[in-house]
Amino acid sequence: MRTAVLLLAYLLSMLLLAAAYGAEAPLPTPSPAVEDAAFASFVHDFKTTATAAGIRPDIYDAATASIARNQHISELNLNQPEFAKPIWDYLDNAVSPQRISDGQIVLIADHEVLDRVAAKYGVPKEILVSIWGNESNYGRSMGGYNMFEALATLAYDGPRTDYARPQLIAALKMMQQQNFAASAMTSSWAGAFGQTQFVPTTFLREAVDGDGDSKIDLWTDVADALASTANVLSNAGWKDGKPWGYEVKLPPGFSFEDADLDAPKTVAAWKARGVTTVTGGELAASDEAASIYLPAGARGPAFLIFPNFKVVLKYNNAASYALAVCLLADQLKGAPAVAAAWPRDLAPLSRGERMALQDSLAKLGFDIGKMDGLIGSKSRAAVRAWQKAHGLPADGFATEDLLTGIAMEAKTKLAGN
Ligand code: CA
Repeated sequence: MRTAVLLLAYLLSMLLLAAAYGAEAPLPTPSPAVEDAAFASFVHDFKTTATAAGIRPDIYDAATASIARNQHISELNLNQPEFAKPIWDYLDNAVSPQRISDGQIVLIADHEVLDRVAAKYGVPKEILVSIWGNESNYGRSMGGYNMFEALATLAYDGPRTDYARPQLIAALKMMQQQNFAASAMTSSWAGAFGQTQFVPTTFLREAVDGDGDSKIDLWTDVADALASTANVLSNAGWKDGKPWGYEVKLPPGFSFEDADLDAPKTVAAWKARGVTTVTGGELAASDEAASIYLPAGARGPAFLIFPNFKVVLKYNNAASYALAVCLLADQLKGAPAVAAAWPRDLAPLSRGERMALQDSLAKLGFDIGKMDGLIGSKSRAAVRAWQKAHGLPADGFATEDLLTGIAMEAKTKLAGN
């Protein structure tokens, strides 16, 4: 009752302020006390949604008894990082010598469960260990937030409510099905949890009992976590005995517009274009189509990518993540590190610069989709088209030099109009 009164008073004061200053007046940010009261009424009201979805009222009460709006998570939820990490920095951490040697220890220590799971699901044990390493550093950092507090904070307000509300329901179902104590259910700020960082809806759909004790616990039971991860990859279409891909060398004069994860060709077609292994050898014949992936543009390493790579993308839809998982898996087996040098001198574009790039491309008549500072497939296609028109390698990779060139041309065009 008190929360409803507070909320009403707040809304009234906002209306009065808006009336006093006219429609243009910016509304003040609500105070933390008002936000907390609104959060408490959200949690109170959401119980109806949860019980309608089959959650027992006592489960709901136990899960939400001690939660509050988490200010830190609210801030993370709204935060848009100014700089995206360059892929070479990301890989330095994801495939570090420490990560490799820790993974090799895991391969020996947990070989029994790994061999069993790999044989049952047809997924290599190195891929499973690599996902474990990438997701939680082999169980060392699984996320220390109260899962219900994290998901309720995201479900209450902000850009992720559509994601978080079904996840909150699924987390409650997990608790009800598996008899977890609410306090044992910890997660990342975004609600991913356990050794291999599942989200609750994936748990309900695809988690399995790996050790036959009739419980599925992805926090404390490594066999459950590895079997569940293998099950996800198997369901996503992992083909046993097939490669994810490998590093290749592109010939001089390679037509870079062909290098696109979404434009596969036969291996024979790549051979005909002069693509070789990094040591200059012939590409192994394959009945699968493959794409060329240039994670850092024309100046960086090139990879021939097969359908299994796309299966890893279904686990976490970021090409840099999938590459880290696949490279770590290879290096756990003793394969060498990436041979070609990364273009470490290239500075990443800031969000503002990426917006400026999109703005200039739009002014030059290119379709860049939504102007959001995210370089997606449309922006990349526009960059490629611009590069091609200027006789540059059409790799679609946005750099400072490229931004300068495109911005100058857009300015000249506007001045001429
Ligand atoms: Ca189990």
